This record gives sequence, structure tokens and C-alpha cells, in this order.
Amino acid sequence: MSRGLHWFRNDLRLRDNTALDALTAQVDACAFVFVVSEDFWRAGARARTPFLADCLGRLADDLEARGHRLIVRSGAPEQVLPELAGEAKAEWVSFNASATPIGRSRDARVERAFDAAGVRTLSCRDDVVFTADQVRTQQGGAFAVYTPYRNAWWRRWEDDPQWPKRRRRLPEPIPGRLASESLPKLPVVDERPKLPTGGEAAADRRLRRFLEAAAARYHEDRDRPDLDGTSRLSPYLRFGAISVRHCVATGLEAMASEPRLRRGVGKWLDELVWREFYAGILETHPRVARSNHRQEYDRLVWNDDPAGFEAWCRGRTGFPFVDAGIRQLRATGWMHNRVRMIVASFLTKDLLIDWRHGERFFFEWLVDGDPASNNGGWQWAASTGTDAQPYFRIFNPTAQGKRWDPDGDYVRQWVPELRDLPGASVHEPEKRDPLFSSYPDPIVDHAERRALALERYRDAREGAA
Ligand code: FAD
Repeated sequence: MSRGLHWFRNDLRLRDNTALDALTAQVDACAFVFVVSEDFWRAGARARTPFLADCLGRLADDLEARGHRLIVRSGAPEQVLPELAGEAKAEWVSFNASATPIGRSRDARVERAFDAAGVRTLSCRDDVVFTADQVRTQQGGAFAVYTPYRNAWWRRWEDDPQWPKRRRRLPEPIPGRLASESLPKLPVVDERPKLPTGGEAAADRRLRRFLEAAAARYHEDRDRPDLDGTSRLSPYLRFGAISVRHCVATGLEAMASEPRLRRGVGKWLDELVWREFYAGILETHPRVARSNHRQEYDRLVWNDDPAGFEAWCRGRTGFPFVDAGIRQLRATGWMHNRVRMIVASFLTKDLLIDWRHGERFFFEWLVDGDPASNNGGWQWAASTGTDAQPYFRIFNPTAQGKRWDPDGDYVRQWVPELRDLPGASVHEPEKRDPLFSSYPDPIVDHAERRALALERYRDAREGAA
């Protein structure tokens, strides 16, 4: 009887799980493990760790319903896993590989440890439909611009569609009792967002609800933070509580059966492709995790402005759309995409603060915090990335607020000091002074800062030339 071990990581589901499906086809009996790393547990303390813990609890319940247990062990995976494989007498270990720089080096250490222990590994990529080397330019290179990448991605799908796998029966549990620890307590934090329910069932419900309701108007409403116009699946995709193949396949089926969904769902599927684009950028150019993709901007002069940064982090910049976004993030661990763009642009172009500070802050608070999408989003907004916002296009936070939150409902929801201002006037509270004096005045003059940003970006480019 052959035995295997599946190591759960960011793939917290039983359905359409590439490495788990491979193991299921290979062995007669198996066990499941999650390894808690202290660094990881602490790094996501505010939002990701509680969401992860919730997903793990629900995964444990799903396994129990199938006669299995989720074993929890803590420590370095390269030590803990070969030990457990030994205890379980497992000949195979399966896991879904990571593509981030840190994840790749950990995977390499784990593979070496299994090699040394004589355990065979089944390691697959499961976080994306296509990896960076599966979507290439005609010359075989990596794409640096999204639109041609997206076109090539869909051509690849047509040639080689990756439909989700049918659910298989899990192998039998390994006989005997393998010791398991409890999950550590959640780290103590001063402020924690109220998070969505974790797990595979919640992710499926969310996908279904999105396709039934908001999807039909997604192409029109996706930029409106005052509406519930997007799927909010990002935390589930982040932790693999839902498979991206399942999202693509369900979306395509919905479009085929209901023509009214074509435009909205088509646009939504392209957003999933953005996620793969950024995953590919980080995989191909790991240095972007720390540095500007466009090296000419290494010369950019950033401001050292702790007071401005603090005001931004607290949602007290005096720009209501920016402040509403930050407060939504701190309250829920999620921020609407359009607002992420404006908030990031404000930090980098109005406050002229290095995007890496904003990236770190987002990563601390976001429940969907993902190294590739977060880095891609920040470098896009700072105009330092591959497929970046051109440096001369600088968002006006007030105009953007009026455009995308036309009745002011989003701002009123998250900035209670402004709740009594009617309609779009909420975007310019300074015009209503002194009634709303508990809300700060704008901390910068946007027109002045725009001019300064253009000068700094121009100097960096000319200096590099
Ligand atoms: P939907 O609109 O329903 O889109 C469906 C899915 O497509 C999302 O769940 C997400 O997986 C993917 N997606 C959508 N837009 C993007 C995008 N622009 N880039 C990459 N993937 C996208 N997304 C993260 O998942 N993690 C992050 O850490 C993250 N940081 C960001 C930082 C900045 C500065 C910016 C501008 C964007 C960031 N994004 C990040 C992308 C985007 O804001 C979120 O994916 C989106 O808001 C999630 O909401 P949703 O699930 O309702 O998206």
C-alpha cells in the first residue's frame, strides 16, 4: 500500500487542487499537514493570519467530513516535513510550489531535504492557470506589457484550456494516529479589521453570488467603490480557497449560457489575467520585489516625510477619497481597486513618498496581500513598473472621487466626520469650513505637488539618459 502526504500551503481547498489531485492518483493512503511558520504567522498578524486560521479551521472540517484530519506542525518545513513523512511512512509528498523569491528558496530547501530522506515529491504550480514560461512572446521572451500578454494568454487557453479537474475520492487515511499541534493563538494587535468568512464553501458562494448579480454590470461598475460591483474573491484566491481555473471555467460557462453576461464577465476574466501577469513579472524579475522595474527611476528623489506618511496611514490627509480608502482598508482588510490606485498615486505623486513604504503598509493590512499583485499595483501607480501608469498622468484625488463616487456615498460610509455633507460636496469639505472642523484640511496642495512630481520624474529620466 503506497502512502503519501499532502502539504497544504496557499491551496486551502480540496477541489481542483493540482498537487493533491496528483497525489490522489498516486497513493492508496494519505495524510494532510499544514506547517506553521512563526514568521509567516506574525507577518500577517492583522488580517491574513486570522483569515488563514479561519480557512484552516474550515479545511479541517471538510477533511473530517471525509474521514481525515488536518495535522498541524510548527517549525521549518524542511525539518518538520521529512520527520512527519518518516512517521507516516510516506513515500510521496505533494505540494503546490511557490513562485515568489522567498517561496522558491524555501521550496528548494524542502526538495533537498526530501531527496536526502528518500521521499519522492510531487510539486506542481497551482496558483495560476499559466506560469510565466507558458505565455511567451513570439520570440520566446517574457511579456512586459499587459495587453499583448492578455491576448497571448487567451490564445494559450484556446490551444490548451485548463479546465478544473473533477472531484476525486480522497485516498484512505494513513492508519494510526499522527501527532498534531493546535494552531498558535492569533498574534495580539492593537487594531484588527473585520474580515470575511474564510474557506472553500464561502468562496464558492461568493463566486455564485457575483455571477448572479454584479457580474452583468461589472464592465460598468467595477470602478465604483460606492457599489458592490466586484467579486471580492481576492482573499480566497490569495489562500487558494478557490481555484483560479474554477473561476475561469465558471465564468466562461456563465457567458456561454447567458449572453447578457458576456461583457461583464469577459472583463472580469481579464482581471484574473492581470493577476497572472503580475505573478509572471515577479517570477521573471524577482528583483522587482525590492527595486524599481524601470531602473531610470532609481535616481528619483523621494521625500522623507514621516508626518505626511502618518497622516496617509491614518486616513487623515484631508482628501476624502484617499482617507475613505485607507479607513476601508483598516476596517475590513480590503480596499476597492480604483481607490487602491488613487491612494497609491497620492502617496507617490502627491506626498512623493517612496512606493515601498506604501507597499509595506498595504501588505500589513490587506487580507488579500499578495507579493506579486501588491508590488505590481504599487509600481504601476508609482510609474516605476513594467506596464506602468505614464509618469505624467497623475490622478487628481478630488476629481477621481467626484467621478467614481458621484453621490459621495463611499466617502460618507468610511469618513463619519463628513456624514452630514450632502452628495458630491463631501469630496471638497474644505469649501464648507468651519462646520466640519474635526476633519483635517488638505495636507498638500495637489496642483503644486503635481508640478513637483513632474519635475522629479523628469529629472530622474534625464539624469538616467
Ligand atoms: P475583482 O474585480 O472581482 O477581480 C477578480 C480578481 O482578479 C481579483 O480577486 C484579483 O485576484 C484579480 N485582480 C483584479 N484586479 C487586479 C489587478 N489590478 N491586479 C492583479 N489582480 C487583479 N490584489 C491582490 O489580490 N493582492 C494585493 O496585494 C493587491 N495589491 C494591490 C495594490 C495596489 C496599489 C493596487 C492598485 C492593486 C492591488 N491589487 C491587489 C489588485 C486589486 O486591487 C485587487 O485584486 C482587487 O481589488 C480585489 O478585489 P476583487 O476580488 O473584488 O476583484
